[in-house]
Amino acid sequence: MSLFFPVEMAPHDPILGLNETYNADLRAEKVNLGVGVYYDEAGKVPLLRAVQAAEEARVAEHAPRSYLPIEGLAPYDLAVQKLLFGTESSIVESGRLITAQSLGGTGALKLGADFLFRLTGKKLVAISDPSWENHRALFEAAGYEVVTYPYYDAATNGLNLNGMLEGIEALPEGSVVLLHACCHNPTGVDLGLADWARVIDVIQRKNHVPFLDIAYQGFGENLQDDALAVRLFAETGMPFLVASSFSKSFSLYGERVGALTLVTSTPDERDRVLSQLKRVIRTNYSNPPTHGAKVVAAVLNNPELYAMWEDELAEMRERIRGMRQALAEKLKEAGVTQDVDYIQRQRGMFSYSGLNKDQVKRLADEFAIYAVSSGRICVAALNSANIDHVAKAIAAVMK
Ligand code: PLP
Repeated sequence: MSLFFPVEMAPHDPILGLNETYNADLRAEKVNLGVGVYYDEAGKVPLLRAVQAAEEARVAEHAPRSYLPIEGLAPYDLAVQKLLFGTESSIVESGRLITAQSLGGTGALKLGADFLFRLTGKKLVAISDPSWENHRALFEAAGYEVVTYPYYDAATNGLNLNGMLEGIEALPEGSVVLLHACCHNPTGVDLGLADWARVIDVIQRKNHVPFLDIAYQGFGENLQDDALAVRLFAETGMPFLVASSFSKSFSLYGERVGALTLVTSTPDERDRVLSQLKRVIRTNYSNPPTHGAKVVAAVLNNPELYAMWEDELAEMRERIRGMRQALAEKLKEAGVTQDVDYIQRQRGMFSYSGLNKDQVKRLADEFAIYAVSSGRICVAALNSANIDHVAKAIAAVMK
């Protein structure tokens, strides 16, 4: 019998499966709203001008390709900290921070999950209901029991703050609590300052371990405001973790650029934690790849390129905003009487459209429009060429 005979087929990945069906669809008007990628007005994944400039300079250097340190490129790690906490923040100089370059945001989450599980004995993590689908799978693969806390209020298409607070309060003391820092995936529903203050209060009282996932910094309001949660947690002085991703904000998906940041209590604690984190990295992939981090560091550490990137990020954010507004307006024009203004309130790349499974299926069958069965649509995949078709189709299945 073959070694691999007992291996069963893994469950179908819902989003990748959707892409396959979309690719096989021959209808000209087809639209894929299932993806988690920003497309420009021409329907293309952009190569940012700041990235291109940094890449050209890098190629011209003809630099040798040695190994990076286990925790990654130092100027990159420092730039990530400044982006998270602000250039003026005293925490960056405090000797309490560790940042390790990671394989995208996913890699940062996995490093943090492995570290907490192996070195602090954490076994329970709470994620939002709903959450990015890989959160559950990733933490389960790291050995955790994964539970959820309420988050989304379907009645208002907004935040269920009381449910969230009660859910977090009810967790066993010292649980890991995964929080989306901004542009919640999949709902697009975020917390405001007062909401964060209350969540932080419960987390502190219950001695929970906050683990912030920030995969869309700059897609909500701007780079500073989107880091509000990170900065509020930093003010408490408590230890926490942050997983950053630059896949979307630099349009560098395939380069796998992310970072795990750990806020420790003292410089001595920092040294011990870093030494163990390095072991986690060393036994997984030894050290991270060079190119993406070099490019991001070159942009973040050069005022001209930084300004160019900030403008390009604003362009992406504004384009998505424009599409949100257009979608809401066109749905109303097409005769939708239900409240659709929440589409404009939601932030980031996604909108939880409120469409159910059957309506999502009708969109695909009748209109060649593909969305995740939860009703999540990627607003960043809309453009002026496809929005009329999408709005009319959504209106038709909503009636
Ligand atoms: N966290 C959230 C909430 C995400 O939506 C994503 C990507 O879709 C990630 C993390 C992972 O990002 P990356 O592609 O950098 O691994």
